[in-house]
Amino acid sequence: MTQNQSENTTGDKPQNPFQFDIADADRSGRPPQEYYDTIKAKFAEERDLRLGYRPPGTDQYTALDEHLANHETDPYADEPIEREPIDDEVEVLFIGGGFSALLTSARLREKGVESIRIVERGADVGGTWYWNRYPGVACDVVAYDYLPLLDELDYVPTKHYAEGPEIFAHCQSIARKYELYDLAVFQTTVTSTVWDADTQRWQITTDRGDTMRAKYVVCANGTLSKPKLARIDGMDSFEGHSFHTSRWDYDFTGADLEKLSNIRVGIIGTGASAVQIVPNLGATAKELIVFQRTPSSIDVRDDWATDPEWAASLEPGWQSKRREKIISKQRAVAERRGTLKGITREEKIRRQENANIDAMMRIHRRIDEIVSDPSTADSLKPWYMLMCKRPCFHNDYLPTFNRPNVRLVDTHGQGITKIGPKGPIFDGVEYEVDLLIYATGFEVQQTGIYNRIVGEGGLELNDKYADGIRTVLGIHSNGYPNMFVMGGYQASFQFNLTDLLQVQGDHIANCIDIARNNDFDTIDVRPESEQWWVDEVIAHRGKTNRNQECTPGYYNFEGQQNRRQDGNYNGGFPRYIDHITSVEAAMEDHFVFTAG
Ligand code: NDP
Repeated sequence: MTQNQSENTTGDKPQNPFQFDIADADRSGRPPQEYYDTIKAKFAEERDLRLGYRPPGTDQYTALDEHLANHETDPYADEPIEREPIDDEVEVLFIGGGFSALLTSARLREKGVESIRIVERGADVGGTWYWNRYPGVACDVVAYDYLPLLDELDYVPTKHYAEGPEIFAHCQSIARKYELYDLAVFQTTVTSTVWDADTQRWQITTDRGDTMRAKYVVCANGTLSKPKLARIDGMDSFEGHSFHTSRWDYDFTGADLEKLSNIRVGIIGTGASAVQIVPNLGATAKELIVFQRTPSSIDVRDDWATDPEWAASLEPGWQSKRREKIISKQRAVAERRGTLKGITREEKIRRQENANIDAMMRIHRRIDEIVSDPSTADSLKPWYMLMCKRPCFHNDYLPTFNRPNVRLVDTHGQGITKIGPKGPIFDGVEYEVDLLIYATGFEVQQTGIYNRIVGEGGLELNDKYADGIRTVLGIHSNGYPNMFVMGGYQASFQFNLTDLLQVQGDHIANCIDIARNNDFDTIDVRPESEQWWVDEVIAHRGKTNRNQECTPGYYNFEGQQNRRQDGNYNGGFPRYIDHITSVEAAMEDHFVFTAG
């Protein structure tokens, strides 16, 4: 029995207005609408509280330059290998060496493309899985779906939810199988990518003095690749040690965190990274203080080791069949939704919202059941609709707050705004820590991150996008011939990101294949096609106020409004796939091809 339920022993109405009393149920056993309305009002109140505290949008985060630049250096590699600058030409060049590059390269190899180069900031392939090596790192998407190219590599993940090292190793296996290490260049950042109309090649320069040329460029730099730190006064005055979650300093903590037994640790942020890290710190650190601005929603994580008999029984091609099944299920759900007759649009939205609130209140009840201290339990309760923020799944996060060495500092939406020499300061108290971990996330989906992209007529991509992003399928942009973008805005949202990357990668490989087979020099999307896609993106955005009603976070541009087409395509993943199919069926309508 939860704390709140135990209070209601008198038969009176529960004192907690967010608690549903069965006596108020309608005939179907559902709570009355006013129960849902009260909770929605509380969601709005909590969102406004947060918006009131923050500098607008992403201004609350600081650039990692000058004295903070060390928060971005690679702790996993030795000093950059000395090498001569490269001056050569390849056919396809990928900016970034994560899953986008790996799975598109696999398709290009299948089509006979030999000259493929990955240019990557890290010292190996892997992207997210190269950088994120914090203790407990794992993926919440089922591994049999998340890890790409399992059929091709004849590999079955060892667990239902794969851990980071296994995913990283899988990335390396893909690179080996498709011989992507041969031309790859690591510890190198692309600084500019400029279209040269005379040679019809992209000119790529890097921070290592390289001047590479490529016929095709794929911006495969990931959706969350540049770490960000909250803008907090006095950060550089902190006298202890500090690092960002994606730059874990195992020299300091020890490989198994064994060096933390005498260390007081603070962690700022409670997003998906922190949720995986906190249980490990709680179990090893002398003291752990978790500084929270907004709690994550934490659901059960149902994990298991892969059954070897099941793995042995899988037929070749099992993963692609599994993927097809999932997508046709999504298609069926979308169709059912579309045919819900006899109810108004408002009623449809109301039902969806009520179901969402039911899910969130279940998450609240789970907190009450697990966390012993009622005030800590209350602080851990998320007051927003499910999916306003990235939902989290963990079985050990909530119990960690029952440990005597672990404390939650709930900043009630304000966040940490000051750090002193000894540690974070909140409400006049300086919390003394020896190690401060920034679990403050990443900059979101910027195509030209670290990189200046200049297309036809010298137009910088950022300038083209100044009045709004313009693409077809989030992949092609007019005036940037032979360039493809992966995982960027105006592409569909899919909880399993590799599903999206796979369909984008297949499409890019198809485009390059068509150009090669026809001896075309360039492929560029038509302006009218771009307008069609921008309209399509806008048509599917803002159907409800849902996003604006959400608590701020990177899913809704930290609460910033008026972004018109600057977001994902919200027409649903199956429909996005249909659009790709229709574009491929009418290439001449969508693209201009040139041949010399
Ligand atoms: P997030 O952006 O999700 O979280 C950043 C956290 O920092 C938020 O809790 C934010 O609070 C908090 N924060 C920012 N500024 C302050 C401040 N001044 N004081 C206190 N708190 C502050 O980053 P993550 O690295 O956690 O996750 C990024 C994404 O990576 C996830 O959304 C997910 O997509 C992916 N990921 C997936 C994992 C998985 O599969 N399990 C694991 C890890 C990451 P607020 O919420 O108020 O903004």
